[in-house]
Amino acid sequence: MRPFDSNLFQLEQVEPGLWLLSEKMVRAGIRSNVWVVEGQQADLVIDAGWGIVDWPFEEIFQPSGKPLWIALTHAHCDHVSQVFQFKDRCFGHHAVKAVVEAPTAKNTNAQPWAPQLKLVAEGFEYLNFDAKSYGHHFKPGVFTDVVGEGDTIDLGGVVLEILETPGHSSDSLTFIDRSRQWMFTGDVLTNGYIVDILPDSDKRAILHVHKRLMAQDFKRIFGGHHAPMDRETAETVVARYAQHKAEQGVTLD
Ligand SMILES: [Zn+2]
Repeated sequence: MRPFDSNLFQLEQVEPGLWLLSEKMVRAGIRSNVWVVEGQQADLVIDAGWGIVDWPFEEIFQPSGKPLWIALTHAHCDHVSQVFQFKDRCFGHHAVKAVVEAPTAKNTNAQPWAPQLKLVAEGFEYLNFDAKSYGHHFKPGVFTDVVGEGDTIDLGGVVLEILETPGHSSDSLTFIDRSRQWMFTGDVLTNGYIVDILPDSDKRAILHVHKRLMAQDFKRIFGGHHAPMDRETAETVVARYAQHKAEQGVTLD
């Protein structure tokens, strides 16, 4: 990978072998993280953004001589919009396949939610983004690899193990790099508000998944939104969520 910076997009290195692509036109609070993990044989992009503006793909991801794969934490609009630009391997939960191959505003949750959010950051009004039509023009992508619990994605020298972590959505996966003790948790665990009010959200499942994730050996969590977390921060977020649910009468026992 090489750094990229324009008025709309930024690709920056956050750790050795790990990059973050940001869509600058999306308000920071709801911007989704696009992580890029480098391997010796292939590089892997995790999630495919809001796509308010189509990514200038060849400019952002300059040819490296290695294939560029994509893995999806789940199939919500803000994580799959640009998957159509990837032409090599595409990994995800078995339920994600149908969405990638025939994305709609409804099956990606783009509608009715997008018009209720203030998506566009200040200074980008000139893009004339129309939230009401968001998701109606998503393009189909290529889906090649159904993955689930215990499967791995081998990038050459870097291996990501998969945990099925439903709760935010039923199709949510977490990718774990055991050697560096990194977890890519998608939206089931982020350093901020955890969305559990969507049609296929399950609050008790989230509580269960949080417990399971906290039992893993990890040093860093790279979620689907918001800043990365160390263990201490993640434990605080998990405890706060459990407390909030307990107040609503939702507990694990
Ligand atoms: Zn989501």
